[in-house]
Amino acid sequence: MKKDSLRYELSLLSKLVDFNTDVQTKSNYVAITDFIAKEARSLGFEVEVLRSNAKDKKPRPNLLITMDRGAKENLVIATHFDVVLSREAWKRKPNKMRREGNKLMGLGVADDKGAIAISMGAMRELKEMDCKKNIILVVSCDEEIGGGHGIKFLAEKHGKKFNPEKCVCLVMDSTSHHVGIGCSGVIRGRINFKSIGGHAAYPFRHPNIVHKVLPFLESLKEYEKKRSKAVSIINAPSFAPHKKVWGRFNITIVRSGMKSNIIPSGFVVGFDIRALPEERVKKVMNEFRRFAKKLMKKHKIKGRITMTGTNGYFVNKDHEFVKEFAGVVKKVFRKKAELACDLGGTDGRFIARIGVLTVSFGPGGEHAHSPEESITINELKKTKKLLIELSKKENN
Ligand SMILES: [Zn+2]
Repeated sequence: MKKDSLRYELSLLSKLVDFNTDVQTKSNYVAITDFIAKEARSLGFEVEVLRSNAKDKKPRPNLLITMDRGAKENLVIATHFDVVLSREAWKRKPNKMRREGNKLMGLGVADDKGAIAISMGAMRELKEMDCKKNIILVVSCDEEIGGGHGIKFLAEKHGKKFNPEKCVCLVMDSTSHHVGIGCSGVIRGRINFKSIGGHAAYPFRHPNIVHKVLPFLESLKEYEKKRSKAVSIINAPSFAPHKKVWGRFNITIVRSGMKSNIIPSGFVVGFDIRALPEERVKKVMNEFRRFAKKLMKKHKIKGRITMTGTNGYFVNKDHEFVKEFAGVVKKVFRKKAELACDLGGTDGRFIARIGVLTVSFGPGGEHAHSPEESITINELKKTKKLLIELSKKENN
C-alpha cells in the first residue's frame, strides 16, 4: 500500500460518520465508542473507557487510547465524537460521507471525526517506528455543549492520567489556519424581567414590560464598546479585525410575548461575553453586573441576572513544545506557523487548567455543523504527517 494513500483513514472516517452521534439525543454514544475501542484494540493499543454519570441517565463514554512506545513524553491528542445535527437544514443524509473530488462532505468529517480517523491512522503507522513520544488519544463526548461529561470530566476527575511533567496536549478540533496558543474566556448569561401581563386594551392596568426593556437594551448595547476596550497581550488570528484579542459582548436572545393583543408578563434577554485569555471571568461578570444594574436603575426596571462562565488560557509562545510544534507545522505545511489565541473557547482550557501545556491545531475543514461541512483530503494528509513528524524519532 502506498504510504500516504489514506485508504485506511478514509474508510475509518466513513464508518465514523455513519454513526449519528448527535449531541442532543446522544443515541449512538455507546455504539461509536465500542466501535472505536474495538478498532484500537485490534491495532494493539490499550483502551480505557471512562464513563461520566449524567443526571439524564444517558451513557457518556469517553475513550483513552494509548500507544505506549516507552518514550519519556506523552502527546495527548484531544478529539470528540459528538456532532451538532440541525436536521431541517439537511437535504441529503447527514450521516453518509461522500467525496467530491478532493473534498469529503458529511456531518462530522471535519468536526471532529476527521481528527479521530487521522490520529488512529498516524498511530497505526507510528507503531512500526521509533518514537520520541507516546500517544494518548482522547476521544470524548459532549464537546459541543461544553464538555461537562467529556473533556472537562476527564480533566477534573481523571487528571492523574495527564501528568503535566510528562504530557503535552494537542487539541485537534479546529482550524489549520493558525496554531492556537490559548483561547478566550466564555460567559453566558440571561436577564429575566417579570411583570404582570394582561389584555392590550387596558395598558393602564398592565404596565408594558416590552416598552420598558427596549430602551434599557438600547443602552445595554453600549457594553460592547466598554468590553472591546479590554485588549489582550496575545495575538488574535490574522483574519480578525484587531491585532490582539479583544473583549466582546453580544445580546443573543430577545424573547417576550405570545399574542398580539396580550401585554406580556415577562421578557428574557440572553447575552454572550468573551473575555481575554488572561482575564478571570469572575471579574468580568462583576463588571458586567455593575454596568447592567446601573442601567436598570436608570430605566427604573428590575431584572434578575444569571451568568455562567469558564476562564480562557494561554501558553508561553517561547515554550519548547510550542517551538517544536511550530517547526513541524512549518515543515509539513510549508508556511510559517502563525501563533494566535482562539477567539472562541476550546477544550484546551480544561486540560491547560491542570497544568498541561496545550496547543490547538487541525484537522481543518469548513462549515462545521452545516450541510456544507467538508474537509479536503490534503488537509487530512498533512495533519496525519504532522502527527507522525511530531512523534517519531528522527532517523539516526
Ligand atoms: Zn468540535
